[in-house]
Amino acid sequence: MIIIFLGPPGAGKGTQCKVLVDRYRLRHLSSGDCLRRERENDTDLGRRAQSFMDSGRLVPDELIVSMMIKEMENVNGKAGLVLDGFPRTLGQARELDKALRQVGKKIDAVLNLQVDDKELEQRITGRRSCPACGAAYHITFNRPQKEGLCDSDGAALVQRSDDTRGVVRQRIKTYHQQTAPLIAYYKQKNILHQLDGNTEIEKVTAQMCRLVDQLAVD
Ligand code: AMP
Repeated sequence: MIIIFLGPPGAGKGTQCKVLVDRYRLRHLSSGDCLRRERENDTDLGRRAQSFMDSGRLVPDELIVSMMIKEMENVNGKAGLVLDGFPRTLGQARELDKALRQVGKKIDAVLNLQVDDKELEQRITGRRSCPACGAAYHITFNRPQKEGLCDSDGAALVQRSDDTRGVVRQRIKTYHQQTAPLIAYYKQKNILHQLDGNTEIEKVTAQMCRLVDQLAVD
């Protein structure tokens, strides 16, 4: 099964993807995480992506598509996959379709996690994560037991450098200009499912699981 998670930055895609991975044993591929790893490893791709990421703009399609297709090839052929943050432009979506066609695969479902703009900024600027285990927190909605420290390993929580207010506004603008058109693209293919993300994490999870349970039955 291949599932794509669409939605603006801060909608909660990462959080919900974790549930999908645990519950349905899918592999999670996040283009943002892949890029951050490239940057940590100081690769040529990481260096080329840096200025785009730091300013909240999209990394050019040709860099992203080749990186993600390579990542997908490394996933065990039988494992189901959830794609998070990719594709993010119509060009990327078309390239993904082409690559999947070549290996006889298809996208089973696109989950569009919709959240109002006014909510996004508050959600993103309050996000914190554990640099050691990747656990995600929020200073208001999902606080750690001890302020600033990870519940699992006690590491000091950090804020992503592009989660600051100025960059967040640009990321939301980029989403509307370049990513939102994918909603119509997948709707036309009859594989789009809407999730209302303007509610508590648990309620979004419940909507999502009902939907994926249904997909698994069909
Ligand atoms: P994310 O962690 O998904 O919010 O992504 C962080 C940043 O990585 C984005 O603001 C973009 O600069 C870059 N990025 C992630 N995925 C893509 C993509 N599919 N296409 C272009 N740029 C991307």
